[in-house]
Amino acid sequence: MRYCSRTDVGKVRRKNEDVLHADGRVFAVADGMGGHRGGEVASATAVEAVTDAVGAGPADANVSRLLAGAIVSANDEIYQKAHTGSGPPGMGTTLTCGVLSGDTLVIGHIGDSRAYLLRDGNLKQLTEDHSLVGELFRNGQITKEQAFDHPSRNVLTQALGTSTEVAPQVATHKLTAGDRVLLCSDGLTTMLTDDEIAKTLLDEADVATACRALVDTANKAGGADNISVVLLDFADPDPFSVEKAVSADPARRKKSGCGRAVALILVVAALALILAGFASLRILNNTYYLGVSKRHRVTIFRGVPGSFGGLSYSRILEETTVTSDQLRPTSKRLVEDNTVVGDLDTVLAAIRRLEMVAPPLDQPPGTKPGIKPGTSPPSV
Ligand code: MN
Repeated sequence: MRYCSRTDVGKVRRKNEDVLHADGRVFAVADGMGGHRGGEVASATAVEAVTDAVGAGPADANVSRLLAGAIVSANDEIYQKAHTGSGPPGMGTTLTCGVLSGDTLVIGHIGDSRAYLLRDGNLKQLTEDHSLVGELFRNGQITKEQAFDHPSRNVLTQALGTSTEVAPQVATHKLTAGDRVLLCSDGLTTMLTDDEIAKTLLDEADVATACRALVDTANKAGGADNISVVLLDFADPDPFSVEKAVSADPARRKKSGCGRAVALILVVAALALILAGFASLRILNNTYYLGVSKRHRVTIFRGVPGSFGGLSYSRILEETTVTSDQLRPTSKRLVEDNTVVGDLDTVLAAIRRLEMVAPPLDQPPGTKPGIKPGTSPPSV
């Protein structure tokens, strides 16, 4: 079994409130909603609750019951946070997750993210959309095509954190060799029809390429929402041993960034030695690094970080409008520790890779945080 996950902010939203998880046993997609960090907090809380519960559960646990319990606890936690002032108010999230043991996948689900099974060339949706149009479709009042374009397609009938009661859908699926399972947020399924998703999955044999193709195709179709996919590929010859984990998830790509960070630290050390020896101004003028200004803003400095012999060899080249608090922890550390040192291209490339918890660097600050456009409060 090979798996891959990928999330993308899309073409319209300023931030990504989807959260993904894929570790070879637990797989999840959560699509958060609610402004002012609410969506991210809710989706991250949901995924964490499930991974913790499954991780802490006994080896012989009844996974369906464990998962159902974890989803109910996640709901309690998010609801409490949202309604007692200890977290962003009005937040909620969808959650579609799978727990894999051998050839058995237990799927737990609430909201309008989806799980699909691709078997023998046919794509089948394993989850019910907990949405108004999902209900209209199940009652035979509208067709799948009408549901796809329906103006109220964002209205959820169930989500985590919006009501004290939840009724998650939990089901066990037996897998066979050749199956593919896709978990995805509605940023994929509102952009692509089931046929288009199936075609992409059938066209791309490689699991990582397929993941990327799904996201790229949804972006080409408009990318109106955050797009997240987790793809499990049970291909022969070893369909049920989790051997090769491939990930195109940026969260994992950061790992290779660690190698770069070590290399950069070595570059800094080498530079310090050169400076001690020659104090070469030429080098200082062609060396840049990423740091924070006195106003805590992400800033490009010319020179080298720190001081040598009591003298500082750097000055501000460009101060951005983004503060370090707007960065995700890994990116924040990268900037605060002055890890990125090199020529201007290196530093500019690093800036583009920084991950924000707020609007991206090319957006002016103070813009309103993204709330799912067209999302009405869930009506139960
Ligand atoms: Mn969404």
